[in-house]
Amino acid sequence: MQAPPSLIATDYDAFRRQFAAERLVVLYYLGLIANPVFFATDVLLHREHLSSLLGLRAIIELGLAICFVILKRRPALVSPNSLLVLWVLIGNLCIAQMTVVLGGFTAQYYSGLNLVFLGAAVIVPVSWPSHLAAQLGTLAYYYGANFLHAPTPAGLNAAIENSLFLVWTCVPVLFSVFLYERLQRAEFEARQSERRIRQELEASNRQLLELDRLKSEFFANISHELRTPLTLSLGAFKGLLKSSPAPECEQLIQSGMRNTSRLLFLINELLDLAKFDSGRAELRKRCFDLALLVRSVAANFESSHTRRIHFKGLDQPVAAEADPRQMKKVLYNLLSNAFKFSDPDEGQIWIRLSAKEDRVDLELEDNGIGIPPDQLERIFDRFTQVEGSATRRYEGSGIGLALVKEIVTHHGGTIAVESTLGRGSTFTITLPRGGASPDKMVALEEDDTITFPAFRESGQERDRPATVSPAPSDDRPLVLVADDNTDMRGYVELMLSRQFRTALARDGAEALDQARTLRPDLILTDIMMPRMSGYDLLKAVRQDPALRSIPVILLTARAGTEARVESLDAGANDYIAKPFDEEELLARVSNLIRARDQDRELIRLQKEKMARFLPPHLAEMIIAGDRDEFLKGHRTEITVLFIDLRGFTTFAETAEPEVLIAILREYQTDMGRVISDFGGTLERFSGDAMMIFFNDPVPIPDHAERAVRMALAMRDRFADLRAGWSKRGIDLGAGIGIATGYASMGVIGFEGRQDYAAIGPVTNLAARLCSEAQHGHILVSGRLWQLVDPLVLADSVGDLTLKGFQRPVPAYNVTGLRPLKEN
Ligand code: ADP
Repeated sequence: MQAPPSLIATDYDAFRRQFAAERLVVLYYLGLIANPVFFATDVLLHREHLSSLLGLRAIIELGLAICFVILKRRPALVSPNSLLVLWVLIGNLCIAQMTVVLGGFTAQYYSGLNLVFLGAAVIVPVSWPSHLAAQLGTLAYYYGANFLHAPTPAGLNAAIENSLFLVWTCVPVLFSVFLYERLQRAEFEARQSERRIRQELEASNRQLLELDRLKSEFFANISHELRTPLTLSLGAFKGLLKSSPAPECEQLIQSGMRNTSRLLFLINELLDLAKFDSGRAELRKRCFDLALLVRSVAANFESSHTRRIHFKGLDQPVAAEADPRQMKKVLYNLLSNAFKFSDPDEGQIWIRLSAKEDRVDLELEDNGIGIPPDQLERIFDRFTQVEGSATRRYEGSGIGLALVKEIVTHHGGTIAVESTLGRGSTFTITLPRGGASPDKMVALEEDDTITFPAFRESGQERDRPATVSPAPSDDRPLVLVADDNTDMRGYVELMLSRQFRTALARDGAEALDQARTLRPDLILTDIMMPRMSGYDLLKAVRQDPALRSIPVILLTARAGTEARVESLDAGANDYIAKPFDEEELLARVSNLIRARDQDRELIRLQKEKMARFLPPHLAEMIIAGDRDEFLKGHRTEITVLFIDLRGFTTFAETAEPEVLIAILREYQTDMGRVISDFGGTLERFSGDAMMIFFNDPVPIPDHAERAVRMALAMRDRFADLRAGWSKRGIDLGAGIGIATGYASMGVIGFEGRQDYAAIGPVTNLAARLCSEAQHGHILVSGRLWQLVDPLVLADSVGDLTLKGFQRPVPAYNVTGLRPLKEN
């Protein structure tokens, strides 16, 4: 940070004063010495004026001596600038007076003035105004005093000549003082800001070191604080196990124990790292059998008949000089990674140990997922996990390999990794042999044992089929739980089992298979899982039309808004962060299942309602939301049928409203059934009229024929209705008009109120034919008649003049179907 200019200037002024004071001491010494020395010149050259000159020299010496004493003893009394001016004036006024004594302007002593100017500027090169003041004072006295003594013409010439030398001494002197001071000021400011930056850096460095120390201290304290309750919990679990608990409780206790020791292990690793950082880590090296130690650590990892650890070079003792406890940590970390990142059923691990003259090589190879080449260097860094979708499936802290590297390096060894993506990885550790030899080997002590959390992923565990409990006859909703952590699965199952049936899956792929066969009511899935992550499972469920509507809840250890948004964006219905409590889990699951039931009920009702007027597959299509593709605007050939009642206007004027509506309902219900049976699309009811079309949105190749058949069925159905009505004294008839032609089809209306509409002359024609039709008539257009002629019996009614049509339109009245000809 740069100091404000004013502050720098004040500081510089102080510095300059001090500089001037120091230099003035030198200047005064010089004056005090030079003055008597020049007296020698007076003796040699001007014996005749010796007494006057001696007097003047005495004044100089006395003046200088007084100022010098003030400078040394009372520096605060007179400022350095004044002392500088005094030095010049004491010397130069006396020298000027000497020139008067020695004959005026022609006296050579005037060059003494220049000498004094130069001496002052060279030794005290600051404060040019003081130099200027002293120079002006000198020149004024020199010229004043010498002119007072009426100079001769030669003297005047000398005055002019001398003034040239005097002025040309003063100007460069002033100029050089001015430049020197500027330079000095710039240098001073640069030095000041450099010093300030250095001070700031040092301060923040000290602060960082202090923070780091506090962090390490806090970290060590908190880790100790955490270890105590965890150790006590572990003890309590062990005690409980000994008290022969019921089998369900035993499972819970086992799970509690496993997870507590996992946490304890993690904290110990963090503490180890902190110790290495603070330099407090101590290695307790001794010579022991490394082969034995490797086998004992490998025994923590359960193998199955397909998943195995293969040993090479471990059947005879291999002497190594190392800290056995630390080496166990190294092996445990490498082995658990090899297990974690290879196939749970098929993964293979090879451990090779070989002793060379000066070193021991330990190689650990797996055929797992491998590491991308650009990440190989990074995996030994703290808290680093390989990035990419594959690893998001594996839990971990990212400190294992960092600790491994610290331990190996502290042993003077090296660790290297080679890996091929998708093929596997090989970690090679080289330890210096040190003084190890078979005859020096000692047995491992009690102290060297450390407990590792058992690595749970045994074949036995994986072979256990996912459970559906209780019996499928139970009609409680089924929740599918996917989590790779056995304990978490068990815990969630226990919580849910009070209200739901549960099915369990160990990863996304297994969950997808189960979802396809079991069709659960809800899926509750972890995000990070091997083989298929929760996100991938979610994607697969949403892409499968049969599973799409199943609600999915993501269960994850990542808390925070970002993770929540990411989950909901991915299409999850809900998101639960671990740790969660039983009530929250049950409430969320129940809510989603209830909402889904309500949705299903709504859809069922919609379907039922639509199926009254639409063919079932069309209703299905509309509800499934696939209609957009079909229903967007397009042009197609359709057959349009119009039906409306004869005598309805008169009836409507006289009938009671309830009767009127009841009659309309009866008519529409019966006609609606016929329409549905024939797969017609009912565009709308409009009072007593109905408009139905065929061949859109569901294609119907024989649409004209279908329409005519439906019209005949309507006529028959209507005959029954009419018979019933006439008993109640109601006389209503119905006429039908049908036409075939092209129309523009699509959804019209606005959000919340939409209709599927057919727009074109064909609808107009059908409507006009309908209004021309008397009761019992089915009037069809010429084009339609051509299409259905081989099938139906129809009489020509001649050319009709219809509103909206310029030319008369030929029309036919369909009376029935032609009897089938026997071939
Ligand atoms: P953690 O396993 O807890 O994530 P580590 O420090 O042990 O942390 O490992 C760091 C990362 O290195 C792992 O997250 C993983 O991405 C990668 N890694 C380590 N060992 C293997 C392995 N055998 N195969 C594939 N990747 C590995």
